[in-house]
Amino acid sequence: MRVLVVEDEVRLAATLQDLLEMQGYLADVSHDGESGLDNALSAIYDVIILDVMLPKLNGFDVLRRLRAEGNTTPVLMLTARSEVTDKVQGLDSGADYYLTKPFEPKELLACVRALCRRTPELRETDRLTCGDLQLEQTTFNLSCSDRSVRLSRKEFDMMELLMLNQKLVIPKEKLLLKVWGYESEAEDNNVEVYISFLRKKLEYLRSGAKIKTIRMVGYCLEPEE
Ligand code: CA
Repeated sequence: MRVLVVEDEVRLAATLQDLLEMQGYLADVSHDGESGLDNALSAIYDVIILDVMLPKLNGFDVLRRLRAEGNTTPVLMLTARSEVTDKVQGLDSGADYYLTKPFEPKELLACVRALCRRTPELRETDRLTCGDLQLEQTTFNLSCSDRSVRLSRKEFDMMELLMLNQKLVIPKEKLLLKVWGYESEAEDNNVEVYISFLRKKLEYLRSGAKIKTIRMVGYCLEPEE
């Protein structure tokens, strides 16, 4: 799960990032509306936390432009102001939820969890399956009948994305952005390296599922034929 935090108060943004990362989310931060919109448009986020009062482009404008581009990522808006008109404006411009500062960390996390559940590709349980494979989202365990291995964080993020999109081709760039994010200097061959780790693990598990390489495009997880 990758969350984008668009917040110009640097300390608050860092606090939110820590809070989210402690809960196992991957979190990126933008400190102004323009870069927030650029990042948000990449469509690699599961939830966007968007402040209203931002330099360069305010939160309402970011949201309107995001929705105008057809991006439907759930958005949680934050504002220091509690006027009803702000809430109405936020919801009118396509926000999914509205939180007034100051808020309790628990409240924010509950909102993020609720918004993640709205993403149709996600399910309520903490286990993903693909053919004979099972991935436990709380323990990072990948198993097939009586064999199991624990995945590293990056392996897990990649496997999760493959399982959520099983039988579909995932472009290499999407895997790279979703798992390593923008700030990182990771390159295409990081993806190849991790795909090879995962293939070795599938082999060890004696799973019938295969990660296929689609030349010049990306990868596809196929359950047993
Ligand atoms: Ca602000």
